[in-house]
Amino acid sequence: MSFVEIKDVTKRYGNHLSVDHLTMSVRAGEIFGLLGPNGAGKSTTIKMLSGLLRIDQGEIFLGGLSVSRQPLEVKRKIGLVPQELAIYEHLTARENVLFFGRLYGLRGKLLQDRVEEALEFVGLQDRQSDRPATFSGGMKRRLNIACAIMHRPELIIMDEPTVGIDPQSRNHILGSVRKLNQMGSTIIYTSHYMEEVSAISSRIGIMDHGRLIAYGTQEDLKAHVAQEEKLSITVAQVVEAAVEEIRQHPRIRQAVIQDRTIEVYLQNASSYLQDILFILQKHQVIIQSLTRVEPDLETLFLSLTGRTLRD
Ligand code: ADP
Repeated sequence: MSFVEIKDVTKRYGNHLSVDHLTMSVRAGEIFGLLGPNGAGKSTTIKMLSGLLRIDQGEIFLGGLSVSRQPLEVKRKIGLVPQELAIYEHLTARENVLFFGRLYGLRGKLLQDRVEEALEFVGLQDRQSDRPATFSGGMKRRLNIACAIMHRPELIIMDEPTVGIDPQSRNHILGSVRKLNQMGSTIIYTSHYMEEVSAISSRIGIMDHGRLIAYGTQEDLKAHVAQEEKLSITVAQVVEAAVEEIRQHPRIRQAVIQDRTIEVYLQNASSYLQDILFILQKHQVIIQSLTRVEPDLETLFLSLTGRTLRD
């Protein structure tokens, strides 16, 4: 059953279409991953869904309620973890969570219990008396999450919650998303990291230039790119000219440098492997490892747009 229905929604900034006739739904109880490069329109979509931004055209329903016509009822169902941190630096961690709890209308023992629960949930109980000014970026994000979930909302929306934080906090956040989902919340998780979305989502929407370009379960999406292949070649030292020559090969869609790894996107790798090896050899590139990677969401994005998510 659909919990969120986004119907033909458009948002414009001046002449620029940030969200372009977007239609998609999120089912009750699922983790829905909204994937797309920076500027794709994910935050704009999230802001319209949370009632923070007016919808120019189209409609959004949440649990059968219209976001435009019943904004207060809708807001009560949502816990939003925005991209920009929404915490108060001069309050302690505990005071921050208390503040948001009161905003949601919690009082007395219930409020105190939920504050404990939320702080424990994000692993900040030991630091509850400290001010966020002394926290790492990841800890501030976790506090932000505690503030957003303490009223146990039906829908939790996290907008790029792992940007610019340490791997430990990142894993903690991904674990929390799964736990919140198991405890009954529907989750919408936006990211431009394919690996994260792939790791936690039951269904995925991929956005680019304001439009939904792919939508479905991971299996549905991967079936689109069953013909596509990706080679991951780790080398002693990347030679830019060699990568450029690989890109010029008529059968190769794209070659991307990631540190000392060259990712080559193509169809039918076995037929063209010799060509790639020949080019690398010509430029005296020393190969340390070569693996064929199963088609993933990055492969799909590339086949649909000709670009990588990281471009
Ligand atoms: P994402 O979250 O996928 O990175 P956004 O929704 O933030 O993308 O942005 C989508 C597009 O809308 C971008 O081209 C961005 O520059 C534009 N945009 C977003 N907010 C504003 C704004 N307040 N004024 C003008 N343009 C905006």
